[in-house]
Amino acid sequence: MILPIVGYGDPVLRIICDEISIEYPNLKEVLTNMYDTMYNAYGVGLAAPQVGVAIRIFVIDTEPFSDSEDLTKEEQEQLKGFKQTFINANMLKEEGEEWSFNEGCLSIPDVREDVYRNEKITIEYYDENFNKKTEVYDGLIARVIQHEYDHIEGILFTDKISTLKKTLIKKKLQNIMDGKAKPDYRMRFANKKGR
Ligand code: ZN
Repeated sequence: MILPIVGYGDPVLRIICDEISIEYPNLKEVLTNMYDTMYNAYGVGLAAPQVGVAIRIFVIDTEPFSDSEDLTKEEQEQLKGFKQTFINANMLKEEGEEWSFNEGCLSIPDVREDVYRNEKITIEYYDENFNKKTEVYDGLIARVIQHEYDHIEGILFTDKISTLKKTLIKKKLQNIMDGKAKPDYRMRFANKKGR
């Protein structure tokens, strides 16, 4: 089922999300809904708070982004076939040089900004079958994970830009809160009932 995506300004996007247990009700359905919602909005990642649930889950599938002409051949290869569910993720290490990339977010439509992040991460998490994993990622995969991980910590990419840039996008953010943004997927806005 495709769910409305929560827009910037909704308090659920600012919560440090809770871990879940293996008995979490309807986990399979929750994950299916999250993937459906992400694909419908042409996103490469989606975190549970973005569908209004403050739990530590995010899903990623970078395949649809892998043929982007803005990417190098190597980056395209890296993104091909990467699909992973992250439950109760815990970032163990972020290292390497910081590099910038133009990020966007399904909760913040029509806003894109360059964000600096470390190039390499070590993260532990449970997969959809509750198998515990510890993995090292770098490059764009690391970046997508860092963006989604921030969501379950109540952080948005717009928190990571300069004060000047924050000022420049203030109006756009207010429009999103007021429900004036018109992406081609369903959203739930902070100051307005869903359309
Ligand atoms: Zn996001």
